[in-house]
Amino acid sequence: MNKEYTVPTWEPGVKQLAPNVYAYIQAKATWYWSNAGFIVGKDYVVVVDSMATVGLTQRFKEEIRKITNKPIRYLINTHHHGDHTYGNHVFAGATIISHEYCRHEVTEAGMMDPNLLNTIFPEFDFRGIAATPAHITFDKHLTLHMDEREVKLVHFGPGHTIGDIIVYLPEEGIIFAGDFIFLYSTPLGMEGSFAGWLKNLDAMTKLGAQAYVPGHGPVCEIEGLNLCREYLVLVRREAKKRFDKGMTVDQAARDIALGQFSQWPNHERILLNVERLWREFRGEDPTTSKLNITEAFLRMDAMAKGRRVVAHDYD
Ligand SMILES: [Zn+2]
Repeated sequence: MNKEYTVPTWEPGVKQLAPNVYAYIQAKATWYWSNAGFIVGKDYVVVVDSMATVGLTQRFKEEIRKITNKPIRYLINTHHHGDHTYGNHVFAGATIISHEYCRHEVTEAGMMDPNLLNTIFPEFDFRGIAATPAHITFDKHLTLHMDEREVKLVHFGPGHTIGDIIVYLPEEGIIFAGDFIFLYSTPLGMEGSFAGWLKNLDAMTKLGAQAYVPGHGPVCEIEGLNLCREYLVLVRREAKKRFDKGMTVDQAARDIALGQFSQWPNHERILLNVERLWREFRGEDPTTSKLNITEAFLRMDAMAKGRRVVAHDYD
């Protein structure tokens, strides 16, 4: 293993990617630290994703307000996970747009118990979060014609979850990739499909964008997308060998050597990734073969804390 490898750091905050197009980047890419974005038009603003808590979303909104006072007319959700939707209601009055499956999950699964979230992730204050579903949904494509600008919302099929979309600006060559790209934090594939995720990355690559805004991590070029792909390919290949040998999910998760990715934070997500892959190798349909998320989070939390103790002992 490369002991020299250190995970890079990056500048957080609002980052202008093109005239009137901005990414909002967090300093960390770990649990619940998610990125977002916004596009300013002549008369209104389009926001891409809310944040995990009311406070974080308010801070994001304040950053938008430093740049424009125009009304926020649309809020796009790239997928249903809480770190992209729990703060939706902070943009009250905006019309929310998502993939139909994202709406289904926000409506049906709702949100995790804020008390449980506060216990597992004590650095956040989850009070006041809400499940606020989209007003407009679509399946494959939807284009917002924002003045002369095209804002394309595209769903290439199941990937990180069943209902992820990307927000693609063809003129500017910018993709808000949502959680299709985790950069410098471990990709989380507990829903959706690894095979589908890789297909999504291929489809995205063909668009030839200049800049990608990951759901977690710094704004990147194609190399960032490829690094995320490398993790997915490695884990799928190594998991398959262990699946064929008849190992359990826990055995395989502990056995797979992650190389440089072992330095990426939240490597305990390997447990959920292997769990998902086991279902995929058995040919189960991800829309019906769901993990019990609460149980999975607790298992993973135990694994993370177990490992932290070990790591600390050898510091
Ligand atoms: Zn996600």
